[in-house]
Amino acid sequence: MRKKIIAGNWKMNKTVEEAVELATAVKRELADCTEVDVVLCPPFTALKSVSDVVSETQIAVGSQNMSSEDEGAYTGEICHTMLKELFVRYVILGHSERREYYKETDEWINKKVIKALEKNLRPILCVGETLEERESGNMEKVVELQVREGLKGVSADAYTELVIAYEPVWAIGTGKTASAEQAQEVHAFIRATVKDMVGAEAADAVRIQYGGSMKPANAAELLGQPDIDGGLIGGAALDAGSFAEIVKAGM
Ligand code: PEP
Repeated sequence: MRKKIIAGNWKMNKTVEEAVELATAVKRELADCTEVDVVLCPPFTALKSVSDVVSETQIAVGSQNMSSEDEGAYTGEICHTMLKELFVRYVILGHSERREYYKETDEWINKKVIKALEKNLRPILCVGETLEERESGNMEKVVELQVREGLKGVSADAYTELVIAYEPVWAIGTGKTASAEQAQEVHAFIRATVKDMVGAEAADAVRIQYGGSMKPANAAELLGQPDIDGGLIGGAALDAGSFAEIVKAGM
């Protein structure tokens, strides 16, 4: 049995004051939630404050990116030591917005995944196809490549720590959600790919989240699919009530 994991990706939203307000509201709803792993991923500037709010609860904190390097002359970057100092436990890596706007490559994302695991941070590796790739019949090819390249060199036993987020790019922030069947099909395909890479035990253990306009109205159906082990939530995570409803749909 895989425990479901719901993470809120707040993206470039919320000042420190607003983040504290949102985290406090989420805490009110979910502080004692043990049935589902809950993760809040505020912007870097609010990590410390959000960690303070949720300390001594079951809620974990994640960052939205991490440098592949340890320290040094990398202007604008944030490394693992800095994140761990703020009690960060998860790191979202390879989000499609980072791939598209900041030209992050599979090779670079893989370096970050390896670094995160080496430093005991849990990567949430995002993969997913664009609408054009889906419509041209290349969805499987694209997703398989991102999984294989993003997780290259990762040992089978690390799959209990890492999370894969399937996020079809055409469903992110668009209000269009993959149907539960469409999502389940890709999740099963990702699990089969992991099986081929590192074996059945790791494939069975790895948690695969769905992301892309997940909201209270569609969460239960998506989360009811056999290979959907949680959600990576963008827009709906900015409202504590909606986020809590999604988490409760996963219980
Ligand atoms: C995301 O960006 O990870 C995401 C899933 O966003 P949204 O829920 O807004 O589609």
